[in-house]
Order: sequence, then C-alpha cells, then structure tokens
Amino acid sequence: MFLAAAAGAQNLSPLAPAPDWSRLDAFQETITREDFTRLLQTVYAPDGAPIRIQPNSALIKTGASGQYELRFAATPKPPPRYWRSAKELPPLTAPARPLEGVNIALDPGHLGGKWAQMEERWFQIENSKPVAEGDMTLLVARHLEKNLAALGAAVSMVRTSDEPATSERPETLRKAAAEELKRKKFLFVRERYDGPSDPLKQNSIQWESELLFYRISEIRQRAALVNDKLKPDLTLCLHFNAEPWGEDPAQPRLTDKNHLHVLLNGCYSPAELDLDDVREEMLIRLLERCHDTEAAVAPCVAEALARDTGLPPYAYAAGNARQVPGNPYLWTRNLLANRLYRNPVIYIEAYVMNSKPAFDRIQMGDYEGLRDQRKSIFHEYADALAEGLAAYYGAIRAPK
Ligand SMILES: [Zn+2]
Repeated sequence: MFLAAAAGAQNLSPLAPAPDWSRLDAFQETITREDFTRLLQTVYAPDGAPIRIQPNSALIKTGASGQYELRFAATPKPPPRYWRSAKELPPLTAPARPLEGVNIALDPGHLGGKWAQMEERWFQIENSKPVAEGDMTLLVARHLEKNLAALGAAVSMVRTSDEPATSERPETLRKAAAEELKRKKFLFVRERYDGPSDPLKQNSIQWESELLFYRISEIRQRAALVNDKLKPDLTLCLHFNAEPWGEDPAQPRLTDKNHLHVLLNGCYSPAELDLDDVREEMLIRLLERCHDTEAAVAPCVAEALARDTGLPPYAYAAGNARQVPGNPYLWTRNLLANRLYRNPVIYIEAYVMNSKPAFDRIQMGDYEGLRDQRKSIFHEYADALAEGLAAYYGAIRAPK
C-alpha cells in the first residue's frame, strides 16, 4: 500500500514503499561535512531540503516529526556500495580492452511493442514505418551490448523484449490510480478516456492506471532487478527525445529541432524532497558518491555523442533541470530511474525522433556500413556511446 493513510504520517510518492531510514546507518561517518554540504547544495538540492547541517552531523527530517542524525567524519570510512568506480577496478592487462571487468547495465528506455501507443512514445505518418521509442532503444542496446563486450565489459540488459518487468498491469492498479487522482484533487473523475487526443484524459482512472503501470511500477521493478541482481558498476539509460508532436499520433508535428543531452541525477525540487521516500533515496545516492562517477563519465559520453552525431545541445527552459557548469550537453535532473538505480547512472536523450532529419534516418531502418556516408542512426548511437566509455575507462585504468 502506498497510501499516505496506510503509511502513518508519511508523505510518499506513487507506489513507493515507506522508507527504511536505518539504511542510512551504514553511512555513519563516511563523509566529511564539506563533501556533504557541497553535494547537497550544488548537485542534489540547489533550492533547499529539510536537512539541517550542524558542525558534526546533519539532522534529516523523517516523516512528519521524526529526525535522523547522520554523523560526519574528518577522516571518513569508505561508503558501502555494490558498485566500483573506475579507480577501484584492477588496472588493464590489454589496452584494446579498456572496459575489461566493468559491469555495465543497459536500460533501453520504455517498453515498445504492443505498449508503445499506451506509452505515448509512438507515431506513424501515413504509411511510414511506425516510430516507437521503446523498440528503437532496444535496438541501440543490442548493438551497444556487442560493442561493449568487445571492449571487455560484462554487459547485462535490464530488458531484452517488450515484456514488462513488473507483474502489475493497468487493471491491477485501478485502486491506486483512483487514490492518486484523489490526491491530485481532480474535481471529476471518469472511468475511461477517448483516445490520445482526449483533452481530459488525465481525469480518467484508465489513463492514471496506465501511467502508474508503464512509468512507475515498471521502473520500480527494473530498479529491483538492477539493485538486487545485476549490481552494475554503471547503468546507461537509453532514450530518444521528442519535441511536442500534438495530440494525434497519426498526424504528428515534425520539427527541425534535433538535439542531444545527457542527464546526471540531481536537481531535486523542494516539493520532491518533501516526499519521505525521495529524500531518503537522494541521500543514499549522495552518500554512495554516485555523482563523482556520473560527473566524470558523462563528459566523455557527451563528447563522443556530440562528435559522432553532430547534434547541438538541448537547453531546458523549465526549472526541473540544471546545466552542469561548463558543459552545455550535461544536465542534472531527478528521474525515477536515475534515482532508484543505486549506482552511477548516465541517462542519454539523443536525437529528436519527430525531427525531420531523425525521422528520415529512422525510416531508412537499421543497416550495416554506410549509406549516404552515414551509419544507421542505431549504430551511430551505440558506437558513439562505446567510444565515450572506452575513452573514460581507458584513460583512468591505463597502466602507469
Ligand atoms: Zn524516453
């Protein structure tokens, strides 16, 4: 049960279990006051958090009235975590295999297949090949899996088909959806909506239960797989971006805007940090020092992608993301996947799938070699990512 009433006085995000604050016990005396303050104030909570920094500890709000005290240390113990940074990996034995022994998980964004239309990550123009983000990210992941394995990595796939990881379905989430609509204070609630162009679809239990299924429950189950089973040193979340294409997926708007950006976890809003589960998850990422690795890997990934794709950087207009100073391609943002996967996560949004140039290349399909002097869009994406990771791990792990 995720309901606030069932979880006492806790304030929780949709489908979240109540946080277990004792998970922070293992992080006592694993960080200096300076590091904690820097990460909290510049990366994770630039607009504030219900956390009071004292001379020797941080007082963290838990639930409605509780507090957790996290002690700092002048000489911190190493934080407990299942993943290894590049410096913690053994030095290389062969320069051609810079990813030797690195455990990398690939998370192809969304589901695709028969779910793509429900996910609103699907469109088709007249008789074109349907454009479905979840199918395209899986294709990129398959190419990337081969590339990374050839460089020595141990690669695991968070999904290998359009079969959901979660056992929930919209039908099993109807009760949760009704509660969520109540929490959102919709004045009237309907059972069903009338297709993707229905302007009031957000008011329906059907739409909300679908959202809880593919956007929340699915990611929560993927996180369980990543954290309990795969335990990678790094996760890559693969996405294609989209610009607003209007309400009708049969008549989408094509745009000239085609761009690239790479997300690191961070930039939690005060409203998000008011949620008990989100605050606890943010702190675990902070204390595990996920950001240090994300901030080191992401520039190499962005550089390779920008070079190989020729795409300009995307700039957020709204305040839910912040640019990483000095690199226009890198942004911090709090998403469910890059918060729940408890290891460094590089979340890539490459190409705008309803831009004219990307659409044309998607229509050309996947192929080996070059056509019109270019790789297929899927190979180009995967090859660039592999180059970026090889550059990063190769430089750090080169024998001295
Ligand atoms: Zn996506």
